[in-house]
Order: sequence, then structure tokens, then C-alpha cells
Amino acid sequence: MSYKLTKKTTPNKDRRKNSPIEIVIHHWGAKGQRFDNVVNWLCAARSGVSAHYVAQSGKVCELADPDRFATWHAGNWSHNLKSIGIECRPEHTNGDQKTVAELVADLWDRFGVLPILEHRDIVATACPGDWDADQVYADAEKIYKARHKKPKKPSTIANVRLPKRGYYALGDTGTSVELIQKFLNKHYLKKTKLDVDGIYGPKTQLEVSGWQNSVGPEADGLFGKKSLAKAKKIAKA
Ligand SMILES: [Zn+2]
Repeated sequence: MSYKLTKKTTPNKDRRKNSPIEIVIHHWGAKGQRFDNVVNWLCAARSGVSAHYVAQSGKVCELADPDRFATWHAGNWSHNLKSIGIECRPEHTNGDQKTVAELVADLWDRFGVLPILEHRDIVATACPGDWDADQVYADAEKIYKARHKKPKKPSTIANVRLPKRGYYALGDTGTSVELIQKFLNKHYLKKTKLDVDGIYGPKTQLEVSGWQNSVGPEADGLFGKKSLAKAKKIAKA
């Protein structure tokens, strides 16, 4: 995370058994208020209000664990029981937006991809001002997707699959041949490179022989088990 997370404890909360199933976005109301003052207010018993998080650009304070506690933010008991409340800075800068989106992505990692509501979706209020739940959702989704993207298989010699007979020879084709050609271009051929066309033609055969000659012991122009093992070692080194 790129924001600094701190923790405080608010007394304005109730234990809950079920994990949260939605996120509610708030703002602090009047602009110009200080983060720490907002945190302190939501942690004061006399305020009678709270939230799980207070967030502004680069920092987040957790006032109650959303997994164990309902906080008093939604002005509606059933929503309090099932939601996570985030208090956002009303100035709503790009930095504020980024931090809140990141916090949401972190919460999604814990609780799954939860829908996001604005406070005004629940009760009649101007809260959360300039904040837009759909925009927070879209930004959080980008972060979340980038995090959970499956790594692409690296197209290296390690992915060469030998055919059933155990070697590549003149006339063979396919992506494995492409990887052999790429390997030769990178680790053997200095000036004139092979076309990476996936065709084990006379030129490729010739260069395989040349490479085998250079690493020894035998050079037959057939790219098989031993050649592959050797190539893997060289590619790794
Ligand atoms: Zn609110």
C-alpha cells in the first residue's frame, strides 16, 4: 500500500458476527477540517458517531476492525450492521481519490469485491459531497485487477515442448520452434539473426548445428533433449 495506515479505537461500535457486504462512502462535511481532529471526534464517546476508516491523500486511520465491528456511520442500523464506513476528505483531491481507491482495493482483498454506496443512497443527506461511488469503484477495480492479473508465461526456451519423437528437425513448425529461434538469436547469433517464423528450415538447422558445435559435444542439427537441457542452462545463466 502506498498510504500510511494507523490505528485508533472508537468506542462507538457494536460487535457483529457477519462479514461486511458493502462499503459506504462519506465525507467529513465542512472543508478545511484536519484529519486528526476528524479521527478524534469519531473516537469520542460523546460524538455518538464513527466509521471504520478516515482517509485522505497518503494516510488512513482504522478506528475499528470491519470484520468484527459495526460502526455508527450510516444513520441506519441494518446498513451499519453489514457495511464498512469510510470517511473521506471533502476537498476530494486526486490524492484523496487515489488513497480511497487503494483502501477499497485492500478491503476487497480481505472481503471480496463489495459494492460501494454513497451515504445519500441510504438516507437523505448531502454526504458524501463531491465523492462519487462509481468513480471510486472504477479506480479500485483498476488497482485490484492489476494486482490479480495472471502473470504471462514468459516466452523463453524453458517453454519449449519437444515433439513425441523427442527432437525438432528440418520441416518442423510451431511456437516451440519460434522459441528455439529466439534462443539462438539471443545467445548464439551475433550479427545475422534468424527470422522468428516458427519454421525449422535449412537456415535454422544450420544455426542449430553451429550452436551445437560451439557448446559440444555432438552437432547433428537436431534439437532434442540434450540440446534443450543445454539451452535451458545457458538461458538461465
Ligand atoms: Zn455520511
